[in-house]
Amino acid sequence: MKLVVLRIGHRPMRDKRITTHVGLTARALGANGMLLAADDPNVKESIDNVVSRWGGDFFIEIGVDWRKAIKRWKEEGGMVVHLTMYGLNLPDVIESADLTNSTNSIGVMRNRDLLIIVGAEKVPPGIYDLADLNVAVGNQPHSEVAALAIFLDRVQDGAELRGTFAGCDREIVPTNVGKLVIDRTSG
Ligand code: SAM
Repeated sequence: MKLVVLRIGHRPMRDKRITTHVGLTARALGANGMLLAADDPNVKESIDNVVSRWGGDFFIEIGVDWRKAIKRWKEEGGMVVHLTMYGLNLPDVIESADLTNSTNSIGVMRNRDLLIIVGAEKVPPGIYDLADLNVAVGNQPHSEVAALAIFLDRVQDGAELRGTFAGCDREIVPTNVGKLVIDRTSG
């Protein structure tokens, strides 16, 4: 299953930090990459820096035309999930009784490549129709970072938290007290 985030509505002056957090969250929680529908090299640089130090092969593409990206994704057989507070609530789509026949089900999503759309302030109305599923992580307004994190965790059953990142310069050894980091660049 390939998981790619499509970030739309990014405003370079206001959203640099939160869009970077969307990318870092996507990477840390098992997504393969992020498509940014805006031209902001600063976001790309921040995320690429993290990838080069902390490993893995997460990619970020900027200046993406979201209509073309969605079209291509569907043509290649992938599914498009738009995270929005107005959508079907996540626990309901996860618990859908008929996993084989219902299109409104995470069961249908499990073995599909997913393009996961998150917005900033407002998304273009067309997105709701282009998406195969509009999914809410609770039907209350909150944040694209929180919505993405919970969605990625649920769709992977928590397995992403045990993920490893090949080719890292540094690696954390989990400890209860203090910080223990192995420097893979020395010796
Ligand atoms: N009115 C927006 C909406 O449609 O969800 C809230 C804007 S919010 C600042 C920015 C993004 O966070 C949204 O485009 C959506 O992707 C995500 N988001 C916020 N609350 C959400 C929720 N309860 N469920 C899923 N996604 C949410």
